[in-house]
Amino acid sequence: MYQIGLDIGATNTRIAIVDNGEVIRSKIIPTLSGRSIHEIVDDDVASIGALMKDAAIQLSEIEAIGVGVPGAVDRINGTILHAYNLQWFNVPLAQELKKKIDKPVFVENDANCAALAELAKGVFQGKCNAFLLTLSTGVGSSMIIDGKMFSGRKGTGVEMGHVTIHEGGITCTCGNKGCLEAYCSASAIEREGRRAVIDQPYGQLYNAVKGDFKQVNAKHIMDCAKKGDAISLDIVNRFTDTLGSAIASIINLLDPEIVAIGGSLSKSGEFLIPALRENVKKKAFFKNMATATIEVTKFGSEGGAVGASLLAQYREADN
Ligand SMILES: [Zn+2]
Repeated sequence: MYQIGLDIGATNTRIAIVDNGEVIRSKIIPTLSGRSIHEIVDDDVASIGALMKDAAIQLSEIEAIGVGVPGAVDRINGTILHAYNLQWFNVPLAQELKKKIDKPVFVENDANCAALAELAKGVFQGKCNAFLLTLSTGVGSSMIIDGKMFSGRKGTGVEMGHVTIHEGGITCTCGNKGCLEAYCSASAIEREGRRAVIDQPYGQLYNAVKGDFKQVNAKHIMDCAKKGDAISLDIVNRFTDTLGSAIASIINLLDPEIVAIGGSLSKSGEFLIPALRENVKKKAFFKNMATATIEVTKFGSEGGAVGASLLAQYREADN
């Protein structure tokens, strides 16, 4: 039997056919999140159909569908309670999907899905206490305590992305000011890069986008920083400094065995991790003791879809 994993992000949706954690086929489509839920679900279902056809897999061979979304969910009836980056509030996602594909549908926060993938098959395997930060359009987070996902009384907790790190700082997608997400998401890095292209019209970043600030994305900034561009390096240094403070706070609060970085920015993990480790070492409360390791996730930006595909199995084991 196979499982289908969907990771609906604010920018892209990843759809995967998975065999017990191993991706058989996957594709990425733009979410175009301003559209109605019907249009978005129709696109997802069409892509699932195309992937199944491509892999010669029948509907009878599909066990369940799991969906990760960047927000808070009602796990019982599969409703998205609120997902600011998608502007979805009380959206009956599982119900809509079931109308098109008659299979069990499980819905979960996307960072929790990514953590499940790491717990089952990735860098959290065998760990009791672990923390995940997913850095994409937004900042997601998930916490494993005693080998199990912890998400608070109503299941809506562990939103590290919306912890205030700068009182009165930049306005976040959630409406509050100074959240971690407003400084350490891919969107935040892009915002800083665009501002730099406007304010400092020279250097590698400016040349990479031929002076068109609207073209700047996080990859341009990371690539230019790797090549030593001073303006891009300044953006990345501010980013690792802020993220380092957040990770040091997580370690000081929880003392986990590992903190892992996932999401689209984890593609630059090899470049970012040494600076983060150095930064966290300076800010850790217990200076002379070994603390959590800081690693890149195994599944990177595929983790949400892989973990979503494992939801049926996880929920069954959890009951
Ligand atoms: Zn926020």
